Amino acid sequence: MLNIVIFGAPGSGKGTQSELIIKEYQLDHISTGDVLRAEMKNETELGKVAKEYIEKGQLVPDELIVNMLAKVLDSKENSKGVIFDGFPRTIPQAKALKVMLNERGQDVTIMLDLQVDEAELINRLLERGKISGRSDDNLETIKSRLEVYHNQTAPLVDFYIAEGKHVAIQGMGSVEEIFGRIKNAVDAVK
Ligand code: ADP
Repeated sequence: MLNIVIFGAPGSGKGTQSELIIKEYQLDHISTGDVLRAEMKNETELGKVAKEYIEKGQLVPDELIVNMLAKVLDSKENSKGVIFDGFPRTIPQAKALKVMLNERGQDVTIMLDLQVDEAELINRLLERGKISGRSDDNLETIKSRLEVYHNQTAPLVDFYIAEGKHVAIQGMGSVEEIFGRIKNAVDAVK
C-alpha cells in the first residue's frame, strides 16, 4: 500500500499534482475539499454546516471531517493506496488518520510538502477564482485561508518530520517540473 499525504497551502497545487500522481501510481484520490463541495451541492446536512465555515475561510470542525473521512476510506478498501488531498489539516486530524490506518494494518508512507511563495499562492487562487466559480476563491477569503493554514495546518510539518515521513517539494516552476520532483521522492520510498 502506498498512502500519500499531499500537503501545502491553499493554491500550492495539491489538486493538480494529485491527478498526475494517481495516474502514475494507480491510487485512489480522497480530496476532503471535493467531498465537501459535493455535499454542499447536494444540500446535505453536512453540506449546509460546512458551507458556513468554508465561505469564511475557516476549517470545518475536526469531528465532522474525521467521520466523513472514515466513511470514504471504507469505500476504498481494495485499493493499491490512497492519496489524501486536503486532509489532514490539523494535528487532531493527523492523529485520527494514523489511528484509522493503523486499525487497517497500514500507515502513511510519505508526506509531500509543496512549498510555494505566498505572493504566488495569492496570484494562483485569484486566477482560479475567475474560472472555478468557487465561493472561497476571493481575496478576503483567501487571506483568512492562508492565515488558518499558517496557524492550524503548518504545525503538521513537525508532526510528520517526527514520524519520519516528511519530504519538502519545491512547488514553484512548471507542473511537469514539480511532478518530476514528486516522482523522485515517491520512487525512493515505494
Ligand atoms: P484548498 O486546497 O484551496 O485549501 P480545498 O478544496 O482543499 O481547498 O478546501 C476548501 C475548504 O474546505 C477549506 O478552506 C476548508 O474550509 C474546507 N476543508 C477541506 N478539507 C478540510 C479538512 N481536512 N478539515 C477542515 N476543513 C476542510
